[in-house]
Amino acid sequence: MKTAVIIGSGLGGLSTALRLAKKGYKVTILEKHTTPGGRLNVLEMDGFRFDMGPSFMSMTYELDELFNSIGVKNPIELVELDPLYQVFFEGKEKPRLIWKDLAKLEEEFKDVEPNLAEKAEKYLNRAAQFFHDTEDKVVKSNFNNKLEYILKLSRVPLKHLPYLFKTMWSEVDKRFVSEEIKIIFSLVAFFLGSTPFQTPAIYSLLNYTEMKHNGYWKVKGGMYKMVEEIVKVLNQFGVEIVYNTEIVGLGNNNGAVSEMIDQNGKRWTADLFVSNSDAASFRGNVLGRKKFSEEKLDKMHWTLSPFTIYLGVKGKVDKLKHHNYFLGSNFKEYADTIFTATENPQKPYYYVNALSKSEESCAPSGCENLFILCPVPDLRFKKDWSDKESLADNIIEDLAKRTGYDIKNNIMVKKILAPDDWAKMLNLYKGSGLGLAHDIDQVGAFRPKNKDEHFNNLYYVGASTTPGTGLPMVIISSRLVTERIEKDHA
Ligand SMILES: Cc1cc2nc3c(=O)[nH]c(=O)nc-3n(C[C@H](O)[C@H](O)[C@H](O)COP(=O)(O)OP(=O)(O)OC[C@H]3O[C@@H](n4cnc5c(N)ncnc54)[C@H](O)[C@@H]3O)c2cc1C
Repeated sequence: MKTAVIIGSGLGGLSTALRLAKKGYKVTILEKHTTPGGRLNVLEMDGFRFDMGPSFMSMTYELDELFNSIGVKNPIELVELDPLYQVFFEGKEKPRLIWKDLAKLEEEFKDVEPNLAEKAEKYLNRAAQFFHDTEDKVVKSNFNNKLEYILKLSRVPLKHLPYLFKTMWSEVDKRFVSEEIKIIFSLVAFFLGSTPFQTPAIYSLLNYTEMKHNGYWKVKGGMYKMVEEIVKVLNQFGVEIVYNTEIVGLGNNNGAVSEMIDQNGKRWTADLFVSNSDAASFRGNVLGRKKFSEEKLDKMHWTLSPFTIYLGVKGKVDKLKHHNYFLGSNFKEYADTIFTATENPQKPYYYVNALSKSEESCAPSGCENLFILCPVPDLRFKKDWSDKESLADNIIEDLAKRTGYDIKNNIMVKKILAPDDWAKMLNLYKGSGLGLAHDIDQVGAFRPKNKDEHFNNLYYVGASTTPGTGLPMVIISSRLVTERIEKDHA
């Protein structure tokens, strides 16, 4: 029986383990942290259970594909969100509800954006064309080299070319009159680790995926149910997960990796190795590759870092829904400075997930479970987070003001994770939350490859290799790497 060692139990590592186990490999997962899931993790404190990172899923058919591929019925129950989220604009008492139904969306914004449904329909249809013209040809394909990638790209209709050179903001600016609508449609640029003022208009395809294609979904029981259900199936397949085990080096022989070495010097042998640790920084930090030295890694474009607060609150914050965005009144200025700021933002923009609105079991009765995410610069720019309490206090005070609920005096449990905590816990490079960004020169054949450049039995899966970041993308990544392994080691 062939053996495989997977380094890391993020969703990418877990999904690859499922696929390889089904193909007959004896799989062992080595995980540095104490629990499986990577960024898709869980925190439990005094009767509160928090999803640590992701709070929604999109392109849910990728999850179905994963389970179908191993002959198991998808055990994860998903519930579609509608409204998708609500947005609190600075100085406005009433939040805006973002509906998938464009007639309802038009009604919501009738005071600022006439004929919104018709305009949004046109905008989303254009975005749909980008999506369907690139999904199979580019996103869901392996490339052996840059030429092959460019040949595949050349099969994408030429009409999309100008959208590579326009920014997302210029596209929404052309199509809508209201600043609020422009901001809402361009928020997705931040999910890619950039801003709408830098992101090419082609990425408006994400608006299509959220508003028309498949929408946003929550997981019944909380997002961590995904990991728990996958781990159950892995157990049935005989996959072993070993925790508190960090790979720090390797041994090799004749162009192949012979063993991975952990922090205690223990050696792990296998026929095949897949790294779910960040595909760029693993090559630099563990393999010592010059192309991925700290200096080179620092020059790459990384996504923003998460600054997260987990709050158990006594009482109900009535103004909150499942997903809530709290924005200020200086969108462009904020977007232009947030990536490289060296200080905490004075008026932070942040997101609040109130899981307790739909999952009673995640908080004691009558209480609220709040997850707050404020994207901040990574550790290249702001190195010292000893002031994390002051940023958390600032956000909690703002949230209390805007929801009309005294949060501070009702806090039952609180935990803050700053970028340095995230970096240490999961080896996220300089605390970058989503891994490498998706600039045109960091996607496709220009992203770190899912097959190692030197060793013929070392592969990569996850957010910083192809196709990119986000839960559905890392599931696709597990399919692409498995296809590659099958082809190489049939
Ligand atoms: C705060 C936050 C919110 C997010 N929200 C969403 C969302 O709502 N929807 C969405 O689709 N995506 C979201 N994302 C993105 C999503 O979480 C990631 O894209 C995805 O989970 C990445 O999975 P992965 O398998 O690539 O890596 P990871 O989840 O990072 O897993 C890698 C694992 O490898 C382990 N590891 C690393 N190095 C080593 C080593 N040397 N030895 C052993 N183990 C090692 C780590 O401990 C970790 O467990 C969010 C991310 C963050 C941080």
